[in-house]
Amino acid sequence: MIQEMQIRVLPQIAASTATIREYVAREKGIDSRTIRDIRVVKRSIDARHRQVFVNLSLRVYVNETPADEGFSRVDYPDVSEAQQVVVVGEGPAGLFAALRLIELGKRPVVVERGKDVRQRKLDLAQISKRQKVDPESNYCFGEGGAGAYSDGKLYTRSKKRGNVEKILNVFCQHGASLDILCDAHPHIGTDKLPRVIEAMRNTIINAGGEVHHETKMTRLIVNAGAVVGIEAVSLATGQERQYRGPVILATGHSARDVYTYLYDAKIEIEAKGIAVGARLEHPSRLIDQIQYHNREGRGRYLPAAEYSFVTQVDGRGVYSFCMCPGGFIIPAATDKQQIVVNGMSPSNRGGQWSNSGMVVELRPEDVEGDSPLRMMQWQQQVERDCWQQGNMKQTAPAQRMVDFVNGKLSYDLPRSSYSPGLISSPLHFWLPSHVGKRLREGFKDFGRKSHGFLTNEAVVIAVETRTSSPVRIVRDNETLMHVGVEGLFPCGEGAGYAGGIVSAGVDGERCAEMAAEYLSRL
Ligand SMILES: Cc1cc2nc3c(=O)[nH]c(=O)nc-3n(C[C@H](O)[C@H](O)[C@H](O)COP(=O)(O)OP(=O)(O)OC[C@H]3O[C@@H](n4cnc5c(N)ncnc54)[C@H](O)[C@@H]3O)c2cc1C
Repeated sequence: MIQEMQIRVLPQIAASTATIREYVAREKGIDSRTIRDIRVVKRSIDARHRQVFVNLSLRVYVNETPADEGFSRVDYPDVSEAQQVVVVGEGPAGLFAALRLIELGKRPVVVERGKDVRQRKLDLAQISKRQKVDPESNYCFGEGGAGAYSDGKLYTRSKKRGNVEKILNVFCQHGASLDILCDAHPHIGTDKLPRVIEAMRNTIINAGGEVHHETKMTRLIVNAGAVVGIEAVSLATGQERQYRGPVILATGHSARDVYTYLYDAKIEIEAKGIAVGARLEHPSRLIDQIQYHNREGRGRYLPAAEYSFVTQVDGRGVYSFCMCPGGFIIPAATDKQQIVVNGMSPSNRGGQWSNSGMVVELRPEDVEGDSPLRMMQWQQQVERDCWQQGNMKQTAPAQRMVDFVNGKLSYDLPRSSYSPGLISSPLHFWLPSHVGKRLREGFKDFGRKSHGFLTNEAVVIAVETRTSSPVRIVRDNETLMHVGVEGLFPCGEGAGYAGGIVSAGVDGERCAEMAAEYLSRL
């Protein structure tokens, strides 16, 4: 017999299947040995009051064993002889596009400028150890894309639950924990993501697709107004190659060379709004105390606490973004002479600090000029200014939070998770005033809403600029094809149609469906 039930329990009961089983057996007055399995269908934490509760929706198997694995499995047929689609970029959008193409009986050929997800890790270490950024292999470029070394947060504002669940199920099929199917705020963690990404790549290859690393698209091949393939160069050997087929362009928000190429080639793009600010880092103990209303912090059974803030200052949104509880701040530049910070966390979120992006909305009309590349150029300039303020290394300019709000230089800085190091800097003075002033007002507001949040124990670290794409590659809403050239499917975050791992995956699947349909019509 399968029974569905909702319970509201203390964290120590929700902590393991064994304690939940004992609780359910007691509640139902049955022998716990008759419960063959318990599946958590939904889990959320209610931390509104001092006593924190965990809400669980359960599926209880009494004298019955579950018939499935706990997720829906997708079949990937052999597509080695099928019609081919080129997928540029192996981030979440590219990976999910490739897998969906296989499901639809088409053969994906994936081209990725960066290294495979394991080798890439060595280049990431060089950024912290030797202040050396490899422009082809970094936190944004390489197998798995910008999402590979991240928090792996999988929540999205997308309303299309079916599409979102499909993405989560595919992650589970490739080794992600089944917890992501039930948690209100699911995340995978940077320690587990690479293994999942490798498994996805192996599915593509085993089904007869191709994956080429260290291979950079240099231009599109256009024939009679239609894209029929790409030219690419192997970064390992310098050899030039062509790959033929309609193109799903999923190159992410940091491929500035791709945007510049599209602009020069007169392929329509437009400027898009972004959000810019800094990372804010508190000791995780402090955030736990505030969010769980308890001086003792989170105790043994609760996860590192999250927060979310939003306000309006002078007609623009100021908000927290991509919060990483128990995580660390990382150097996410994609080239020399720039500083860009971002955040990630391991699956247990057990680190000493909690950080989030604190950003201000910037609209195309806020930046002078009418070039479709102006937001990108503005972003580039801020990152370069930040690098100059950071002593022309990856050492990031930083200021204590209250000092930043009061416009006062910090004469020392707290310890931080940012491994290339911090340098004290008057961010209030040199951050573009559109951003700096609003951020200071925003921090005051967040401090009023959450007692103890506005503190000099927290440090503001500049600069967070890669929150989304500064350019939109304009496509038709129905066919998802570029408005000016046939056979080109701008996809994912870089095209301006997604923000985050899950929405990029959803968009990848949709582009694959449209590309497969297009190919069938040829
Ligand atoms: C440090 C960090 C932490 C993040 N944390 C989260 C999180 O917890 N949750 C979340 O939802 N989102 C997070 N994000 C954002 C998320 O990673 C992106 O939204 C997502 O990866 C976008 O997917 P995408 O496939 O569209 O683009 P990307 O992931 O950017 O992938 C694009 C790929 O294209 C490749 N490429 C670019 N140009 C070329 C070319 N010319 N030829 C061949 N290949 C090319 C790049 O190397 C890259 O691998 C984080 C981002 C960063 C940087």
